[in-house]
Amino acid sequence: MFTHSKDIKLTRKPHLCLFCERRIEIGESAQKTFYVDSGKGGDYYLCKWCATHIDDIVEEYEYELSGGDLIEYVSSALYGTKCPKCNGKDYDFNVDTLCAKVILSCNDYMEDMVCGNHWAVSLNELLLVNIKQEA
Ligand SMILES: [Zn+2]
Ligand SMILES: [Zn+2]
Repeated sequence: MFTHSKDIKLTRKPHLCLFCERRIEIGESAQKTFYVDSGKGGDYYLCKWCATHIDDIVEEYEYELSGGDLIEYVSSALYGTKCPKCNGKDYDFNVDTLCAKVILSCNDYMEDMVCGNHWAVSLNELLLVNIKQEA
């Protein structure tokens, strides 16, 4: 497969990031990659955070990559994370690559009430911890 990437300082149209599936807004920086693979070609965009960190997360990637891969990675990197309010482990999360954060919301019960605590974890720190563990 042939690929060629270039950085775009100011996007002039909104695009969808291949990896986090976030909408890259007009005026954001992004990376555009052209590819040619067995006679077929196309292009895809990565947002700034994904373009910087994707090599640390997936060893080899192609245009078939989807947002599910990032969610799966973050999910395993969050292993052992507990809610700072109730120590619960039952939470939902959203990955925010624009702010480089994972926003968690707790579904665990405190006595008979849903805890409902929201907190954020730095995406870059999460990445760093995971790389150290694998090394
Ligand atoms: Zn992205
Ligand atoms: Zn909680």
